[in-house]
Amino acid sequence: MDFKLPKTHILLQDLYRKFAQTEVKPLAREMDETETYSMELIKKMQKCGFFGIPYSKKYGGGGADVLAYVLCMEEMSKVDASTGITISVHTSLCCSCINEYGTEEQKQKFLRPLVDGHKVGCFSLTEPNAGSDASGQQTTAVRDGDHYVINGSKVFTTNSGFADTFIVFALTDKAAGTEGISAFIVDAKTPGITVSANIPRMGIRAASNCEVALQNVCVPAENRLRKEGEGFEIAMNALDGGRIGIGAQSVGIAQGALDEAIAYVKERKQFGRPIAAFQNTKFKIAELQTKIDAARLMVWRAALAKDAHEDYSALAAMCKLFASEVANDVTRACVQLFGGYGFSREYPVERMMRDAKITEIYEGTSEVMKMVISGSMKIR
Ligand SMILES: Cc1cc2nc3c(=O)[nH]c(=O)nc-3n(C[C@H](O)[C@H](O)[C@H](O)COP(=O)(O)OP(=O)(O)OC[C@H]3O[C@@H](n4cnc5c(N)ncnc54)[C@H](O)[C@@H]3O)c2cc1C
Repeated sequence: MDFKLPKTHILLQDLYRKFAQTEVKPLAREMDETETYSMELIKKMQKCGFFGIPYSKKYGGGGADVLAYVLCMEEMSKVDASTGITISVHTSLCCSCINEYGTEEQKQKFLRPLVDGHKVGCFSLTEPNAGSDASGQQTTAVRDGDHYVINGSKVFTTNSGFADTFIVFALTDKAAGTEGISAFIVDAKTPGITVSANIPRMGIRAASNCEVALQNVCVPAENRLRKEGEGFEIAMNALDGGRIGIGAQSVGIAQGALDEAIAYVKERKQFGRPIAAFQNTKFKIAELQTKIDAARLMVWRAALAKDAHEDYSALAAMCKLFASEVANDVTRACVQLFGGYGFSREYPVERMMRDAKITEIYEGTSEVMKMVISGSMKIR
């Protein structure tokens, strides 16, 4: 057992960190305030290969692994959680469905441009009446010769404002419950798709997150992933992997906030001394760093299990449950360490505190994580 990163990964971590600090950090505040993600930044990240890290070079991906991907997620989220989720939804939700369930032809046609940096993907599962209970899908896909006609509405689809490729889940058999759900790769330009304006949000405000209306959207039958009825399994599998990325995003938000707080307490003087000199400050920082390190190790454990093709579902749920709580606890404590300045928009910790909240909600709420973990423990 080795808790140290391999040399290859230390080099990658350094690359991600330098990019995040020089290219992402300077834009984070403005992107949050304007609630708009920089398309120029997306192009730069695509060029650097950040949109295909764990995918095979055979398809134009980075040929690295899930561990490398979580390092990227942490470094980006340290400075901007919106960047983290933009990469995460594309990588762990959209691309993974095609990588793990697509035919060779589908991978060449759809996965390649996504992982080689030409296209952006999104994942449309959640509907107004199907959130935690994703089995309650109401969107339908009706077979008509060599294509399907999709009708319905999705909500909270991240990246949908600029994505080129959607993974859409829809009922092909209304009577069959979860076994009636199928998954489709849908080109964003297909007539009948209407993407709303960004949904106004508390945090990760720079990320694109919209409602998606699907009206008589004609999708070639060859774009269906696997057989009819296998969509629910595809969605649940993608979410298992996605949760490792959200765990890493949470660790990044927490470490980013703590790094800002450490720099601040060394500078800020009260009672004639830097506030870092007070034992309360030092002990608080020690507690917070300990929590972050524990969360990071849980994320790495889940990433290594996925890389080793072991069963990682409960490990992913545990790392997301724990790391998201840590992100919320740490960012709240960091705002406190900044005092009134933490509450102001002058410093990034207020944004980080707002951004942290979503990690307890998306890709399965904390309550859903507890269902997954207790389910794996077979408690009767
Ligand atoms: C910013 C953002 C980005 C998102 N991105 C995407 C995306 O890209 N693609 C996508 O498909 N979806 C996305 N989502 C949707 C997200 O995954 C859902 O919001 C989430 O799964 C919760 O569903 P819900 O909002 O309908 O809440 P609900 O399911 O209505 O839950 C409300 C509350 O009830 C609790 N609850 C529900 N059922 C139970 C139960 N059985 N036992 C105990 N408690 C329960 C929940 O834990 C929660 O606290 C995103 C959401 C947001 C806000």
